[in-house]
Amino acid sequence: MEKSLVLVKPDAIQRGLLGNILNRYEQKGLKIVGMKMIRLDDALLREHYAHVADQPFFDELSRFMSSSPVVALVLEGPNAVELVRIVCGIKPTDMGSIRGDFALSVQRNIVHSSDSPANAKKEVMRFFKEEELFEYEKDEWKHALAKSDY
Ligand code: ADP
Repeated sequence: MEKSLVLVKPDAIQRGLLGNILNRYEQKGLKIVGMKMIRLDDALLREHYAHVADQPFFDELSRFMSSSPVVALVLEGPNAVELVRIVCGIKPTDMGSIRGDFALSVQRNIVHSSDSPANAKKEVMRFFKEEELFEYEKDEWKHALAKSDY
């Protein structure tokens, strides 16, 4: 079953939105298989945001992302990468999504989510050790999923 990485960013932690965000993913029926609070150091930030390292906003982004801890999540479900990204939204105007409903800013946008299955695999490994990921039955799936969803 596909897994995706989410980071609940410092703005969400400071604004007391963590419970709300977890609720969105739980309501959708995704399985939380990894969860921890971490502070992003320079090395981790450079690796995670390598694709925007040459952008003018990179320094401000780095300061923002290390300004308080983040909560890292690994979510599992059918088609999890695309689904998690849709729940997250892309822009503050994507109403109904997390960014649409909670963010005003292109930078302070509440959550990160993996943008492709290949990146999701790398990002899960970047933030979690094998032993920090859990395998368990989610009983709700007996009702929420059909055999053909597996
Ligand atoms: P996304 O998180 O939507 O996949 P990117 O990977 O392109 O977006 O960018 C990484 C992060 O950099 C964004 O989540 C956001 O916090 C920040 N960012 C992106 N574009 C801008 C911008 N134009 N100005 C400031 N910060 C930005």
